[in-house]
Amino acid sequence: QAEALARAEQLAAVGRISAQIAHEVRNPLSSIGLNVEMLEDALAQASFSSPEVAHETKDLLTAVTREVDRLTEVTEHYLRMARPPHPTLVAEDVTEMLGSLLDFSREELERAGVQVVRDFAPDTPLVLADEAQLRQVFLNLVRNSREAMPGGGRLTVATRSFDTEVEVSVQDTGRGMPDKVRERLFEPFFSTKEGGTGLGLSVSQQILQAHGGSLSCLSSPGQGTTFVLRLPRA
Ligand code: ADP
Ligand code: MG
Repeated sequence: QAEALARAEQLAAVGRISAQIAHEVRNPLSSIGLNVEMLEDALAQASFSSPEVAHETKDLLTAVTREVDRLTEVTEHYLRMARPPHPTLVAEDVTEMLGSLLDFSREELERAGVQVVRDFAPDTPLVLADEAQLRQVFLNLVRNSREAMPGGGRLTVATRSFDTEVEVSVQDTGRGMPDKVRERLFEPFFSTKEGGTGLGLSVSQQILQAHGGSLSCLSSPGQGTTFVLRLPRA
């Protein structure tokens, strides 16, 4: 489970890096393409004076254009791949998902001295979610909480329903965080952990945004941390 998550984070990192490279290559490519077009026009005008040179140069320019087109296609391909997949939204029972995930993590949490409190609102309405993606978000949050409570503590997972949304909160009694960490925690690659990927929360926030929901955080040092997740009702 931890490995699957680490792998998902690595894949997301690869995606983000390819997107960045593709982006940085795409802009210069399009200006190279424009300049080649201008050279072709200039050449057409100059070809009266020396038809032979013009012919040869035109072939060279055609080769450049072909390569530019090919590279543009390749970068577009990588950009498409790097976009996070669109969530497939289905009506889901979020308390059922949380329940099975907490059951699944029970052994690990118990060993870490973490007591789990489930505070689910009765008849929590269904939400619109991609189960696999949302599960990844919950796993990220629970894992971060466990890591923030090295000496054990309490993890409270609660749901509340509102008119159009369901709120899920994941609260821990861990070390909390200072403002300068809280301000940056959704940044890709931001981590205060040795060997941390710093991707868990940035990926989670992206997932929530793609769901039309949100992910936010309340925390202060020594006071523990609460993540609040909002999802549209089905
Ligand atoms: P990683 O866990 O790999 O460091 P994340 O994106 O999951 O990356 O988290 C980024 C940072 O946010 C963590 O390194 C940590 O400093 C902080 N953080 C996240 N969750 C908590 C939490 N529950 N309590 C305290 N700090 C947290
Ligand atoms: Mg993490």
